[in-house]
Formats: sequence, C-alpha cells, structure tokens
Amino acid sequence: MSNNSSSIPKFIPFTRPSFNQETIDAVSEVLRSGWVTSGPKLAEFEAALSDYFGGRPVRCFANGTATMKIALQVAGIGAGDEVITTPISWVATSNVILGVGAKPVFVDIDPVTRNIDLDKVALAITPKTRAIMPVYLAGLPVDMDRLYSLAQQSNLRVIEDAAQAFGSQWQGKKIGSFGDLVSFSFQANKNLSTVEGGCLVLNNDAEAKLAEKLRLQGLTRQGMDGMDVDVLGGKDNLTDVNAVIGLQQLKQLPTYQTRRATLARQYFDVIPAELKLAGLENLPLELPVENFTDSNWHMFQVVLPLKQLNADRAQIMTELKELGIGTGVHYPAITGFTLYKDLGYKLSDTPIAERIGRSILTLPLFPGMTDEDIGRIARGLAEILKNHRKN
Ligand SMILES: *Cc1c(COP(=O)(O)O)cnc(C)c1O
Repeated sequence: MSNNSSSIPKFIPFTRPSFNQETIDAVSEVLRSGWVTSGPKLAEFEAALSDYFGGRPVRCFANGTATMKIALQVAGIGAGDEVITTPISWVATSNVILGVGAKPVFVDIDPVTRNIDLDKVALAITPKTRAIMPVYLAGLPVDMDRLYSLAQQSNLRVIEDAAQAFGSQWQGKKIGSFGDLVSFSFQANKNLSTVEGGCLVLNNDAEAKLAEKLRLQGLTRQGMDGMDVDVLGGKDNLTDVNAVIGLQQLKQLPTYQTRRATLARQYFDVIPAELKLAGLENLPLELPVENFTDSNWHMFQVVLPLKQLNADRAQIMTELKELGIGTGVHYPAITGFTLYKDLGYKLSDTPIAERIGRSILTLPLFPGMTDEDIGRIARGLAEILKNHRKN
C-alpha cells in the first residue's frame, strides 16, 4: 500500500444513492422467496405509497418514463393534441409526448425558479392544447394554485412530471397528494430510488385499472382462467425486487431529506463566503431559490456567469473534476437536440432556457456527503471562477 493515496482527495460524485443493510437484506429475502417479479411486495409498496399520498390511488411502473407515457395514455392524449411543457428537463418529458403522437409545445422558463413560466403558459394555449406537463426542477414545485387555475380555466389536464419532487410540498401538502395525474421516478439518482422505477398518482379506481392494463399488455382477467386484451398495453411493470427497495427507502426518506436540507443550507452559507474570500463578491453566480419549505433538495444547481468568464461550462467541469469534484448538467434545453431541431423547434424561441441550459451546473448533493465536502466544493469552485474571471 502506498502512502500517497492519502494525499489524493477522494472523489465526490454529483450524486450517489444510499442503500442500507436492511435494504440489502430485504432484497435477498425476495430473491430467495421464489417470487421475484410483480407480486405481493409490489402491492405492499403501492399501498404504502397510497398512504403517503393521502389515500389517492397509486400504481408503479418500470421507470419514470413509462410512468409518464401511461399518464398520457390514461388522459387519452394522442395524435393531434398539444401538450405544453418546459425545455429545461430530462428529454424523457417531451419524448413521451412525441411517443404518444402528440406535439410538445415548449414554453420558456422563469430564470429564478428555472421552472416553466406560468405567465407564458397562458399565451401558448390553443384549441389543440389538451394538457400542461410541468417539471419541478431539482424538486422545487411551480406555483400549484396558479397551475391548476390555469388548467381549470382552459379545461386542460395536468400531468405533473414530479420525477424529481418526491417529498416536495406545496403549502404544507405533499406534491402528489393533490392535483390531477402526478408522475414520479425512482431512478437511481432520485431522492427515493428503487434502482429503476416510477409511480403514478391517479384520480380514481377507473384510471388505476386502466393504468394496470396499460402496464401489462392490456390484459384483463376474469375468474381463474378468463383472459382478455381490450387495449394496447406494454410491458412496464415494476418487480418485487424493486418494490422492496422502495419500501425500505420510504422508511429512510425523512432522514435523507433532513440531511439534504442541511447540506443545501451549508451551500447557501459557504458559497458566498468563499466567493468573498476570493474577491468575487460581485460575480453574479446564480444560486437556487432558498426554499426550505417546499423543495426536497433533489439537486443544488448554480448558473455560471459565463459572460464574465473566459471559460465555458465544460472547462469548469473538467477543472472541478481535477480537484475531485463531480458535477452534472441538468439540463441542456431539449430544443437544441438534433431530433427536436429536425422537427422544427428552435433554441432561440426560448432564450432564457437557452442561456440557462448552457450555464447551469449541478453541484454534489446526496445524503452520504460530509460537511467538509461542502467546504471543499465551494473553495474549489471559487478558485476556478477566480482563475477564469475576465478583466
Ligand atoms: C428522472 C427523470 C425522468 C425520467 O425518469 P426515468 O425513471 O429515468 O425514466 C423524467 N423527468 C425528469 C424531470 C427526471 O428527472
């Protein structure tokens, strides 16, 4: 063993899932049980989620993307329909809209919340608009009262892409415990993870029954051996292995949430302090909204003041990585992707999303991080920004 290794700072990834021994044991138990795919653990997980969301029906799916696709199908959205959404999201959001044959209509974002700008949503509604699909970036919800009053005025469905917002709130109510169709992801990086997975909160049992059919080939069962298929479904079910991980994560969630909020608070203290020490108090590095009542702190994202720097985001990410600090990009504006450009979308139609998509940077934030990690990250970022400040 070389002694040198102690002088190399440990690498801090931008995120890392936390699975405790109990979770590992619970998975072993399912694997030994003789029933590993969708079964009793799935039913138990769905019941626990329904409890969590105040008794609304909940169904689980293989991933968040399948969950959103099925939400659109449950809402009956398809060819000829328009769905209003944000360009700053994981591309799954608009891919599923295209996937059901509908047209995504991108509305620019609010530069402060980085979420869809509800003032601009009203202007994008046409006779073809059927739904609004907001995204709660980094776990910060939009103004839910405004969202649902807009939807009600124009008779639109709301399909919430709450993939990042498990545990987030609005005026003391959990996201998912109210509203229309609310879709969550349990992908590895999300606040609650089943490795891969997702769940949909629905309005009633009829919608839940349809969602069940859609996730398994459109199959209906009557009696012991009666089988029929009356709609076109896919293969989007969640397994008991994933479900048992979710059950354990649900128990851990309050602890994880508290830790995330504590770490986010430290960023709000330490980043400005380090910038000041570096003589950068006037550099307009944009921090997130300091919201400790609604956000679940899924991510902590800064927007780099690229105009005042002689480096782009990629260069800054590379230099952070050299200091042992992992970062991420969530997200470049969807309308800049080739598929979307080929469909006629233009980045310049949503200029705020264009700028933020180019300059947003996700700093590490996950429950397993230490207080010292936050200090190291803030110091590293300040040092790099100082080296690249234009004169
Ligand atoms: C993670 C995520 C999804 C997709 O979820 P998967 O489980 O990866 O399919 C969709 N939208 C947003 C905003 C996400 O963060």
